[in-house]
Amino acid sequence: MRQKLQSLTREELLQWLDLHGEKPFRAHQILNWIYVRMADDFDQMSDLSKPFRQVLAEHFYIGRLAVAQEMVSADATRKFLFRLEDGHTVESVLIPERDHYTLCVSSQVGCAQGCRFCLTGQGGLIRNLTSSEIVGQVWEVRKHLVHPTYLTNLVFMGMGEPLANYNALVQAIQVLTNSDWGMKFATRRVTISTAGLAPRLLDLGRDTRVNPAISFNAVTDDMRSELMPINRKYPIEQLLDTCRRYPLVKGRKLTFEYILFQGLNDHPDQARKLAKLLAPLKAKINLIPFNPYPGSEFQRPSEERIQAFQAVLIAKHFTSVVRYSKGLDIMAACGQLRAQHS
Ligand code: SF4
Repeated sequence: MRQKLQSLTREELLQWLDLHGEKPFRAHQILNWIYVRMADDFDQMSDLSKPFRQVLAEHFYIGRLAVAQEMVSADATRKFLFRLEDGHTVESVLIPERDHYTLCVSSQVGCAQGCRFCLTGQGGLIRNLTSSEIVGQVWEVRKHLVHPTYLTNLVFMGMGEPLANYNALVQAIQVLTNSDWGMKFATRRVTISTAGLAPRLLDLGRDTRVNPAISFNAVTDDMRSELMPINRKYPIEQLLDTCRRYPLVKGRKLTFEYILFQGLNDHPDQARKLAKLLAPLKAKINLIPFNPYPGSEFQRPSEERIQAFQAVLIAKHFTSVVRYSKGLDIMAACGQLRAQHS
């Protein structure tokens, strides 16, 4: 049976080439064709001999994710529903910014974390994505774009908890950021959002140079555990201790995300507490007004309330930006992704 070529690591490909009497530089050629020149057929690899291309095609195929559905929002956000080889689906969201695109990538089918405000979490975890399925989302979207180089930023804030699928995540990051044969994304433009898997967060800092973003959302353990069950395992103090020990790349800050829920965590006193908790860290805080969905138990705070919260943080010398999610009308905004079709 033929194997999906992208499921091999570079080291595995090198071993296979060695076994078949081929020189190691062939690995660079093949990977460059797939990830840089976006080839999806061995016959396009014109600097490989025809007999060698045939051998490759006998053993491997170049896998692609099928686009089951593409929706375009009124604000030009595009949501892609990808069908995986086993029939499950995941979503990726392409967000147009002023001068570039950001792609929100999924790391799991479903999610086991069960955050109360998140649609993805409500169906539980179905399975982890493989590294090639994670990379495949980026690859397909890049292939879709008229100006592929405009896609410069990746955020792992789609379906799933990326750090709960750690090995596949790190392998995918290697392919996405390798500047020789990979997809050449700058590590400073790749953000991994976590609900707070503290031990894995330190691993991420050790193994990669991408940016972590911690989904924080509450300033007391009681409330955070209510909103995010993972807090029972890794409570606020442990999470912050991990953040203090995180090996930050020079010149960067840790990002904290704070979803604002009306009447729950949006009081200026809570902003002051948040500032106090994060004061020992090099931190910036993204405020995300909650995006209600049909049947959601939470509401979005008023504009006044959002700005009052932000003003407290700015007065305490934090960089704090309000992130208004895009793609609300096509359920592509933060926390709205769900494998409705799986
Ligand atoms: Fe999982 Fe993230 Fe949703 Fe929490 S917010 S349930 S970690 S996908």
